[in-house]
Amino acid sequence: MMTESNKAQLDVIIVGAGFAGLYLLHKFRGMGLSARAFETADDVGGTWYWNRYPGARCDIESIDYSFSFDPELEQEWEWSEKYATQPEILRYAQHVADRFDLRRDIRFETRVEQAVWDEEQSCWHVTTDKGDTVTGRFFIMATGCLSQPKDIDIAGIEDFTGEIYRTHSWPHEGVDFTGKTVGVIGTGSSGIQSIPLIAEQADHTTVFQRTANYSIPAGNGPIAPEKEAVKKRYQDYREEARWTKVGVPGKEAMDFALTVSDEERQQRYEELWDKGAIPHLGSEFADILISEEANETLAEFVRNKIRSVIEDSNVADILTPTEFPICTKRACLDTNYYQTFNKDNVDIVDIKANPITSITASGIATQDQDFTFDAIVFATGFDAMTGALLAIDIRGRAGQSLKDKWADGPLNYLGLTVSGFPNFFMITGPGSPSVLSNMVLSIEQHVEWIADCLAYMGKEELTVFDPTETAETGWVEYGTATSDMTLFPQAKSWYMGANVPGKPRVCLPYVGGVAAYRRVCNDVAAQNYLGFRFDGPGGARCNDGLVRRQQPDVVALLEILDEMELPPFESMSPEEARATSVAMNAGNPPGPEVGEVVDGTYPGADGSLDYRLYRPESAGPHPVTLYFHGGGWVLGDHTSDDAFCRDLCNNTGSIVISANYRHAPEAPFPAAADDGFAALQWVAGNIETLGGIERELAVCGWSAGANIAAVVCQLARDAGGPAVRGQVLITPVVDASDDSPSMTDNAEGFVLTKALMEWFWDHYADPAHRTDPKASPLLADDLSGLPPALIITGEFDPLRDQGKAYAEALSKAGTEVRQTTYPGQIHTSFTAVGAIPTADGARQEIAAALKQYFKVMEAA
Ligand code: FAD
Ligand code: NAP
Repeated sequence: MMTESNKAQLDVIIVGAGFAGLYLLHKFRGMGLSARAFETADDVGGTWYWNRYPGARCDIESIDYSFSFDPELEQEWEWSEKYATQPEILRYAQHVADRFDLRRDIRFETRVEQAVWDEEQSCWHVTTDKGDTVTGRFFIMATGCLSQPKDIDIAGIEDFTGEIYRTHSWPHEGVDFTGKTVGVIGTGSSGIQSIPLIAEQADHTTVFQRTANYSIPAGNGPIAPEKEAVKKRYQDYREEARWTKVGVPGKEAMDFALTVSDEERQQRYEELWDKGAIPHLGSEFADILISEEANETLAEFVRNKIRSVIEDSNVADILTPTEFPICTKRACLDTNYYQTFNKDNVDIVDIKANPITSITASGIATQDQDFTFDAIVFATGFDAMTGALLAIDIRGRAGQSLKDKWADGPLNYLGLTVSGFPNFFMITGPGSPSVLSNMVLSIEQHVEWIADCLAYMGKEELTVFDPTETAETGWVEYGTATSDMTLFPQAKSWYMGANVPGKPRVCLPYVGGVAAYRRVCNDVAAQNYLGFRFDGPGGARCNDGLVRRQQPDVVALLEILDEMELPPFESMSPEEARATSVAMNAGNPPGPEVGEVVDGTYPGADGSLDYRLYRPESAGPHPVTLYFHGGGWVLGDHTSDDAFCRDLCNNTGSIVISANYRHAPEAPFPAAADDGFAALQWVAGNIETLGGIERELAVCGWSAGANIAAVVCQLARDAGGPAVRGQVLITPVVDASDDSPSMTDNAEGFVLTKALMEWFWDHYADPAHRTDPKASPLLADDLSGLPPALIITGEFDPLRDQGKAYAEALSKAGTEVRQTTYPGQIHTSFTAVGAIPTADGARQEIAAALKQYFKVMEAA
């Protein structure tokens, strides 16, 4: 039982009796809490109570789109189809309510209108449209993400004398369109599901389409035997689902659409198509939702399928989606949608080309034509994710309204809570994976997390929680950084709030996937509810902070590496480490195309060595960037940072020459440094033959390669040439004796570890040599007269502080230097083109610096 600290009538007040409300009631009852739900409808079911339009069914297979919390329920319920219809899903919700006797705690036909936090009593006063007020210690919104219809924003609707239907509030008795002319506005999931069935009945159907959508055939029918067999191991299967991206087990792609062959890509898309399922559409390849080019391969595949079905090419043109990347609006699942437009009594009107001007008494007027209808169906969607929440006047601390707090977008912590609104939870709220997932699974995760939180509070005698602003801001920023890496912001979708005029344009769901999100929520709980302030008889407490401090793509990479459970490099022999590094590199996204790639050899300090030259597409000659790869002097070669070199070539417009050097332990210090200097001399001496411009030569390197770049600048200065225009050092190794805070704080967990750095040094240089400036350039007596430098470091790089120290030392010696430490980045971020998009800004800074160093470019 919870600690009683106020006079609240109830422990928990819930709004909504869809799947979320039902499971909340059941869960709290099991915990001995008093809970009551309020529901506008006269029965349970939520979405499946309201959306009774013809063809309404789920688009996640029913085996997945169902509760997992009770193994008996799971086993006893038999779905009749792969994708159950609305009546069947509603029967399921009713069965759950009956089975667990939930109706007695639900007040039906009652709308919650206001909720006010009482600071003194530490409870919520909740008022309904029946005029009564109840008090509860916790207030939970199970109001649904797609329950508040979007206002119809077309003039003249009140003038229409025929029948009006809206998909989200379809008459319970059904509608018979036989013999009628029907207009349908809207071609989202609801329109696409209902149009084929409306058209089967109606005399004539005209569909008004603003934006063509991507839809794939559901292939509905009996549940496939292999899917049905899942029930034998249902609980394991559910556990698998919890650790996927969308909440449905299946392949989680690690490879890229742009790296596989055309044949393989086509074959995999065909398999996806035949499966008739949307959960893995956007994740068949890791780059579909990140790279426009990759996305286009899937989009074009689907377009071709659409075109192949529609007989009239003009109609096909209208129905073929081109305006947004596929999967950045929810993809639709249909049964005979495109085929419907081959019927003589079905028309489509492209209202982008021929806009609706008004609804009239007899039908719909467009710019070019007036249409007469007996009935108009609006399938125009929802004020999604925030609509139902803001329809209630919710007031938190100091009377602040949620509407005001969310004027510029839904500030939240974990998509579950809001700072300043104590003891308030949202189920599948904005900021959580929610509508991008199998929603029943996400509902269960939220309900269970909340239940654990309430149990913790009870145990610790805490009565009030409130997320801190720090935690809230951090989570919103993390969510935005996550969506900014993807193509989602490119679509005018309801995910982005773009379907409702005046709604703030922010990505509403968290796009990082259910597994990553579950880890976040679990981490918060494991750290004594990090980011929450608690109060109560048990005392006041707050473990404030950010649950994710690295950039989202860095977090994802670290999680993947974690899952791979690779032995640490430093436990391997150099040969094993090299083989592992090559294997890992093979999975990297490819870099961009460049004008030309040429492989060649140059005279190293002790024999011939390889190089790879990347030439820009533009007409030469070009300035030249001599690049040294990373790998701790032990791993890698002139091709191992291929994607980065390509990107650098394009961003700078310079020729990039990636020069190999001898590796340790076979060729220890100073072999790499000597080869680096030999490369510099050779490039400078042959610059015009290579297509470069005389004297327009800069150096760049990453990690141990940055060590070489720094060293060759010192060697060139001491030797009186060659002249180097500038040096870009990316997370450089410059001091073997470094024992700075970054070396300790970031010693483990961020790919380059302290132990691995020691292993590199042990292979490269005897302790006696490590203080030589050719090994540790920071330790040089004289740092003056060196080329201007840009030093890039990452917040979570063990080498961060030595990079900074080198910048300070160069500056002190009068060398022009710029240094940037990128927040949330690690040692390997900056060269990981395609894999760590949040480091794109750093790569732009690198390119800008090099362009500035090249005098010809600066002059231009
Ligand atoms: P809801 O089912 O929306 O229930 C919320 C309830 O709260 C409603 O009954 C509403 O009346 C009530 N309510 C709201 N405000 C108040 C108030 N102020 N006072 C009292 N009561 C209130 N998701 C999937 O994962 N897979 C699918 O296949 C899928 N298909 C969908 C099909 C349609 C047509 C729609 C519209 C959505 C679909 N969804 C699907 C999303 C679907 O909404 C969720 O899967 C899930 O049903 C949401 O359950 P819920 O309990 O959170 O919310
Ligand atoms: P939706 O996806 O938002 O689609 C609304 C449609 O109406 C769009 O085609 C939109 O055009 C059009 N529209 C809106 N306002 C308009 C206007 N003023 N004039 C002309 N056209 C207008 O809504 P939905 O179809 O109800 O689906 C919402 C979500 O519910 C889905 O994305 C899905 O998550 C869920 N759902 C799932 C299923 C399922 O298969 N299980 C079924 C239904 C719904 P624009 O695109 O140009 O804005």
